[in-house]
Amino acid sequence: MNKRFLLLCTIIMGISSSTAQNITKAIYDSYDDYKETSLNNRRIKHADLQPLIANFRGNAKFKVQKVGESIQGRDLNLISLGSGETNIFLWSQMHGNEPTATQAIFDLLNFFKSGDFKKEKNEILNNLTLHFLPMLNPDGAEVFQRRNALGVDINRDALRLQSPESRALKRVRDSLDAAFGFNLHDQSTYYNAERTEKPASISYLATAYNYEKDINDVRANAMKVIVFMNEIIQKYAPGQVGRYNDDFEPRAFGDNIAKWGTSLILIESGGYTNDIEKQEIRKLNYVSILSALYTIAKGSYVDIPVEDYEKIPKNDRKLFDLKIKNVTYKISDKPYILDLGINRQEIDFVDHNTFYYKSTIVDQGDLSTYYGYETFDASGYTIVAPKLTVDKNGAELDTKNLHKSGVAFVKTHLPKNGFAVKKPVHLVGENFKLPDFKLSPGKEPTFFLEKDGKIKYAIINGFLLDLSIASDKQKFGNALIHRN
Ligand SMILES: [Zn+2]
Repeated sequence: MNKRFLLLCTIIMGISSSTAQNITKAIYDSYDDYKETSLNNRRIKHADLQPLIANFRGNAKFKVQKVGESIQGRDLNLISLGSGETNIFLWSQMHGNEPTATQAIFDLLNFFKSGDFKKEKNEILNNLTLHFLPMLNPDGAEVFQRRNALGVDINRDALRLQSPESRALKRVRDSLDAAFGFNLHDQSTYYNAERTEKPASISYLATAYNYEKDINDVRANAMKVIVFMNEIIQKYAPGQVGRYNDDFEPRAFGDNIAKWGTSLILIESGGYTNDIEKQEIRKLNYVSILSALYTIAKGSYVDIPVEDYEKIPKNDRKLFDLKIKNVTYKISDKPYILDLGINRQEIDFVDHNTFYYKSTIVDQGDLSTYYGYETFDASGYTIVAPKLTVDKNGAELDTKNLHKSGVAFVKTHLPKNGFAVKKPVHLVGENFKLPDFKLSPGKEPTFFLEKDGKIKYAIINGFLLDLSIASDKQKFGNALIHRN
């Protein structure tokens, strides 16, 4: 290639990429106009989707078909639009507790229903026909669990096809013979972009179709589209994109669908600081998928160098909800320096609409290769074991003064029901005995930090409270009720 030709190429690619960036910015900025606001928390159910689907059924632009039923008899619907020759198939929530992309799908459908962005939409819908299958595992979603009502991971049922949800997915894939498939999941919030403290808010994978991880044209096309999406998303979540592990799993859907000839793009929604309900990540899904559809429709992805895929940092799993570093911990009055990694697990209430936190120390020692959504440098602070007091007046407790005197457990009249309390002290029953304090993985992180003989911080159920600030001004989830 001569220099002038190279220069020309750079200019052309520069123009097309900046045009794409401009359109994407307009799409990102106008997102709230299309956001489906009835789906704003993660514990959405099949029933929440039905009025929305009924709306699209009544709209001539869309075709809604029932394509199967879950084990418990919930309808699986395919919502299609567009008149292009190329079929694109997108499905979400084959794991019931992974709803982020289901929400994004309804945002996308609202976008396509509207009269805005006519030119871009025509470009997409004249070239492509889009098929959305939201919430493939409604029985799992009902109880916010990964597996379906058979107790099976649908993503390990692509060959045996014992679950009706799996058979529906396979049937639709085969009938469409889609050029591109979007396999939409949520991943652990503890994934980070390798060797950085940034969470992998979005991870991509061009799924392998064999153990050798060969790259044929089908897989290469998925890689190129991913490079395009990554470039767009880096603008809105810099450094927060990871590349998902591409080990071949012979029983998984993505891997088989890639083998059956569909360019398979996995999108995983991870974590994002202070975004418990993952609404910012939902928006990133929306922008990401729309930008992918746009480059596929225009065919502009074909010139993207496939090698750039490898430049996206790998996923790693090095995040904690709270990392406390350099804290002093004394055994027999001898001081030791430790880092602590603390995670806050969500436990569902029986209705599976809400949850409380139960936290655990997951690791301790030198955690200098790990990161925290929240990190506290406890240099100079010493861990103080929590104390128990008796107070019949549970509802009126002055928690700040309790904390200053090292109390984290209160024996009191317990509410009849419940496992958690909003106040930052644990409530315990008549027969509760405070166990000897020992810091170790698997234990509940409740203790205090003192400096110069004064308690300055409380850690209650894995939440850090600065005692110089009112606790209701700080981020706190809940304390626990220990009945015995
Ligand atoms: Zn999943």
